[in-house]
Amino acid sequence: MRELVEQLASGHRLDKKSLSALLTACATDSHVLQLLRDNAVRTARQQFGLGIFIRGLIELSSYCRCDCMYCGLRRSNRTAERYRLTTEEVMACCKEGYNLGFRTFVLQGGEDGTHSDEWLVELISHIRSLYSDVAITLSLGERSEESYIKLKRAGANRYLLRHEAANEELYASLHPSSRGLQHRLACVEALKRAEYQVGMGMMIGVKGQTIEHIAEDLLLIEKYRPEMVGIGPFLPHHATPLGGEPAGDLNLTLAAVAIARLILPSALIPATTALATLTPRGRLEGILSGANVVMPNLSPSDVRAKYAIYENKASWGKEAAEGLKALESELQTIGYHIDFSRGDFNNLKQ
Ligand code: SAH
Repeated sequence: MRELVEQLASGHRLDKKSLSALLTACATDSHVLQLLRDNAVRTARQQFGLGIFIRGLIELSSYCRCDCMYCGLRRSNRTAERYRLTTEEVMACCKEGYNLGFRTFVLQGGEDGTHSDEWLVELISHIRSLYSDVAITLSLGERSEESYIKLKRAGANRYLLRHEAANEELYASLHPSSRGLQHRLACVEALKRAEYQVGMGMMIGVKGQTIEHIAEDLLLIEKYRPEMVGIGPFLPHHATPLGGEPAGDLNLTLAAVAIARLILPSALIPATTALATLTPRGRLEGILSGANVVMPNLSPSDVRAKYAIYENKASWGKEAAEGLKALESELQTIGYHIDFSRGDFNNLKQ
C-alpha cells in the first residue's frame, strides 16, 4: 500500500482497482490511513500553508421539489418544516457575515420552485452591489444553462453541485424521479462553460455504495477537475427511507478526502459539517486529511433547525461571532488559523 500512496502523492494516477485496494486498506489499517493523510496534509500545506478559508453558509430555503432518498428536505417528507428567507433576511445575514470578516457567502437551498431567475438575479446583484469584494457561491441544485448564465452575470462566482454518485445505478437508486446522472453531469458541464468555479463531490457510506463506487467517484473527480470538492459521511435522517441505515464510516471518509487532495493538489476542499456532526473532532480530522476550508453557518438562528438535510447538524451555537472565535480556537489546537481572504481557486502551483 505504501507504493500506492507514494504514487498518488507524486502525481501518478491510480486505476479503479488500485484506488479500491487503497480505500479498503485505509478502512482497516490505521498505518496506511495515517500515511495517506500525512501525504495529503503535506500537499495541502504546500498549497495553502496553515490558513483555513471560511465560507459563510446562508440556507435560503427548505422547500424542495426533489425526492432524494437520503435528504430530510425531500418533498415526500411531510413532517419537514419548511421556510424560505426573504431578500431582507439574506441581506441581514450578509451584513453580519461581512462585518465578521467573511469574504465568501454560500447561498444554498433546496430546489425551491419560487426561486425564479428574476428573484435570484436581483438578490445576487444586490449582494454584489453592496459587497464588491466578496465571492458569491451558489448551491441551488439543477437549473437550466440559461439560468446559470444569468446568475453568473448577476455576480455569482462559484457553484457547488455535488455529483452525488458516479455510478449510474447507484445514482438512480438514490434519486428517484430525478433526471439522472447524465443530466446532473450536463449541469456541471454547463456551469464550467459559464465559467463558474465548480464544486463536485459525494457522500461516503450511503446505502448501496461500495468501495468500488467511491473509487469511481474519485476517478470522475479526476476527470472533471473541479475547483472544489465536498466529501462528507452519509448521516441518516429519521423521516427518510434511509433513516434506519448506519452513518458513513469516519476512516473511509477521511481516506476519500485525502485521496481527493492528492488527485487535485490545489482544489478547495471543505472539512464538511457532516464530518463535524459525525464526530466532535471531525472538522479537525478533515483538515488533518488535507481539507482547507470550513463553512460556518450564517443563517438566522430560528431557521437553522429547519434546514435539516440530516439531523443534529454540528454548529458553534447561535451567534456567528461566537462561532468564529470558537473556530479560531479549535484551529489553533492543531496549529492552524482562519485565513480571511476570499480564497479563490488558484492553480498556479498545480
Ligand atoms: N439542493 C442542492 C443542495 C443540496 S444540500 C443540490 O442539489 O445541490 C448539499 C449536500 O448535502 C448534498 O449535495 C448532499 O450530498 C448532502 N446531503 C444531503 N443529505 C445528506 C445526508 N442525509 N447526509 C449527509 N449528506 C447529505
